[in-house]
Amino acid sequence: MSSSQLPLIDSFGRLHNNLRISVTDRCNIRCFYCMPAEDVQFMDKSELLTFEEIERFVRVAVPLGIDKLRLTGGEPLVRRELHTLVAKLAAIPGIKDVGLTTNGIFLAEQAADLYAAGLRRINVSLDALTPEKFKQFTRRDGFEKVIEGIQAARRVGFDPVKINAVSVRGMTEDEVVPFGHFARETGVEVRFIEYMPLDADNAWERGKVLFAHEIIEKLSAEIMPLVPTVLHDRTAREQPAHGGGHGGPASDFVFEDGVGRIGFIASISQPFCMSCNRIRITADGKLRNCLFSLDETDVRSLVRGDGTDDQIASAIRSSVAAKKEGHEINTARFIQPARPMYSIGG
Ligand code: SAM
Ligand code: SF4
Repeated sequence: MSSSQLPLIDSFGRLHNNLRISVTDRCNIRCFYCMPAEDVQFMDKSELLTFEEIERFVRVAVPLGIDKLRLTGGEPLVRRELHTLVAKLAAIPGIKDVGLTTNGIFLAEQAADLYAAGLRRINVSLDALTPEKFKQFTRRDGFEKVIEGIQAARRVGFDPVKINAVSVRGMTEDEVVPFGHFARETGVEVRFIEYMPLDADNAWERGKVLFAHEIIEKLSAEIMPLVPTVLHDRTAREQPAHGGGHGGPASDFVFEDGVGRIGFIASISQPFCMSCNRIRITADGKLRNCLFSLDETDVRSLVRGDGTDDQIASAIRSSVAAKKEGHEINTARFIQPARPMYSIGG
């Protein structure tokens, strides 16, 4: 095997096959844990990678082992004709999977085109199940449109459709049981994401995170015990009532009767950095080896200028090689990245 075909393995032995692509930093809502309420400084349109530049970058990344893509932002569905990018990327030989994370507001009108373009997996962000609470999270109206978007996505054939709900102490507690019932009644998997220090307002504190184990306990007590799916699929009926979520690798759970899937992204209480397989490219073409990294590599100058494919590949290799062991949120050493979530691409 020549060195140009070696997989993307970092100095901790982690293999990287997953690329998150941010297509814009713009957004039509203003979630408090991500964006400032007002006066957002968006990138100039000329700074954004074009669809052709994104496609070129992906074509270079595939021989290095990238086979899974997810489009994100900002809100990816505000980027015009996004389905044409999906079609370009899904057609690249070696790409096994193209996913999308969206706030769902424009999903009803775009779901059919996205599906036809080859997109198959959608995560819709929805933090609450009432319009009032939705507005507290997003500082905007739009709850009904998101629900319509989820329904449209399922109707045109997306499977799975997952919901991402950021879990915030003082706000999410009342949503937990309704989300449990929602998962059971609709078949949509609900994934709770612990609130991370990537907000534009720099207001994150550890005390504001509602932890995965607290949600597991509440759902188990108020609906029915949750069990990790791995255990459930093997020996569902023999498992103890509690899913165990402290320290084990399992992050996907199901209610004991097999109905209703609940997932957890417990980045704060159970960091999973040692199994991270992701790299990211921002909408303005900066390569990042971690959500929390403090530095990034400019690849726009290469894909836009006269950089060769070898130069782009070597920029990707160097970025992966420099990846740190993990985020340090739970230590005094932690420094919040200058870019908030909407500008990195979640
Ligand atoms: N606009 C799209 C959306 O909201 O789905 C895609 C971009 S958004 C940045 C990607 C994901 O990051 C969303 O599920 C959002 O809830 C999550 N997110 C944003 N800020 C976060 C934070 N501070 N902590 C945890 N998750 C966050
Ligand atoms: Fe927009 Fe998504 Fe950030 Fe919410 S989380 S403000 S929807 S980019």
